[in-house]
Amino acid sequence: MAGLAAAHELATSGAQVVVLEGSDRVGGKLRLGEVGGLTLDLGAESILARRPEGLDLIRAVGLDDRVVHPQTITASIWTHGALRAMPPTVMGIPADAAALAASGIAAMPEPRILPVPAEDVSVAEFVTERLGRDVLDRLVEPLLGGVYAGHTDHLSLHATTPQIAALGEDLLASATASRASATASGPVFAGLLGGVGQLPTAVAATDGIEVRLDATVRAIVRTADGWRLSVGPTTDVESVDVDAVVVATPAPAAARLLAEEVPDAAFALAAIDYASMAIITFVFDDAIVPEGSGFLVPPVDGTFIKAATVSSNKWGWVGDSGRTVVRTSVGRAGETTLLQHDDGVLSERALADLRQAFGSLPDPADRVVRRWGGGLPQYDVGHLDRVATIENALAGVPGLEACGAAYRGVGIPAVIASGRAAARRLLDAGTLDA
Ligand SMILES: Cc1cc2nc3c(=O)[nH]c(=O)nc-3n(C[C@H](O)[C@H](O)[C@H](O)COP(=O)(O)OP(=O)(O)OC[C@H]3O[C@@H](n4cnc5c(N)ncnc54)[C@H](O)[C@@H]3O)c2cc1C
Repeated sequence: MAGLAAAHELATSGAQVVVLEGSDRVGGKLRLGEVGGLTLDLGAESILARRPEGLDLIRAVGLDDRVVHPQTITASIWTHGALRAMPPTVMGIPADAAALAASGIAAMPEPRILPVPAEDVSVAEFVTERLGRDVLDRLVEPLLGGVYAGHTDHLSLHATTPQIAALGEDLLASATASRASATASGPVFAGLLGGVGQLPTAVAATDGIEVRLDATVRAIVRTADGWRLSVGPTTDVESVDVDAVVVATPAPAAARLLAEEVPDAAFALAAIDYASMAIITFVFDDAIVPEGSGFLVPPVDGTFIKAATVSSNKWGWVGDSGRTVVRTSVGRAGETTLLQHDDGVLSERALADLRQAFGSLPDPADRVVRRWGGGLPQYDVGHLDRVATIENALAGVPGLEACGAAYRGVGIPAVIASGRAAARRLLDAGTLDA
């Protein structure tokens, strides 16, 4: 999505763009697939609407008449043996003492008032020191597990939860006050009728963008007047000469591609870890599960799945099918053995968890396991320094840019912003004959 956003920005500014995509389809983590005769998102499924970049791109490619918003975003936490309504929080920091008490999720902590350190620390260290382990384990951890598939013991406070750092010395008082004074209106999330997986294909169809599939880039080297890319299978490598390059791959591939020309960037990229996961989607023939958009599970509860989304409750267009669609996710950073199970075991264990959470469930009409190896970059402590190193190293190399989820935000609007910014830097530097 980041690369396509860069391509869109360049093409609509008059440049000729070729997108070299290593796989047989565009979109990366945005992907549609069929489950039980329904076409559904099997990767990313919702777009933060409080940032403009996702909806801007949707409008720019003419998909605005397909924009939809969740029918419900009331989520639960599955903990202490029951589904419990999630109280209002700021990224897991309780913002309503009465609602927290009523939820039975965690005890209201006795807060410690401490300054926010200037240097980076882990989310776990920061929250535990101030609010104790229960709030961390049962509220903050499941939320971050959902977004980053990571562990708060490693995740960077400043890179992953700047909202928590911004609460200042008294986390509970500030979270409660910020909820009381919240003025933002309008839906928080958006989707597309038919799935957000339609967005990449629509962007790729922009005039001026040529997409080559099965075109893995193996090396990038400087020439007298631009760059030469080695593309395709090792047995049949083709050279592609261009004026400028935007590298929009995940960090491990970017590290390999930049190793020759920008070793400092490559070194920092190689230090970014990734979490692998799987999305297991179930379709049931009837309407069978409770209301609400789904639930998150704290890792301390020891379940197999880490979250479930009742897509047929969340998205009207899915619910209109008259069937129940539940999507579960498994896998956090470092949990490599879990994903070594075959698809049958993964889906049976996920189904067993769903049965326990929701009560009895019939057999699903269909189920699909979609694996996302290296799905989400881990913004571990020190991440923003690593990104600054990468950006500084690239700034000294005209005509070469990088973008994507590895840098400053993993969500769809953030990666679109990253792609557009990379394109703008090329255009502003006059590297292209646009
Ligand atoms: C399961 C899952 C669910 C998610 N859900 C949401 C969600 O609901 N909302 C949200 O906002 N975010 C979500 N995210 C995060 C978000 O989808 C991703 O962070 C984002 O889409 C990543 O975009 P990207 O362009 O940086 O990278 P990618 O999507 O990884 O794209 C990189 C592309 O580069 C290609 N490539 C790699 N190496 C090479 C090479 N050498 N040569 C050529 N091509 C190469 C790949 O094939 C791929 O197409 C989710 C992520 C996952 C994994």
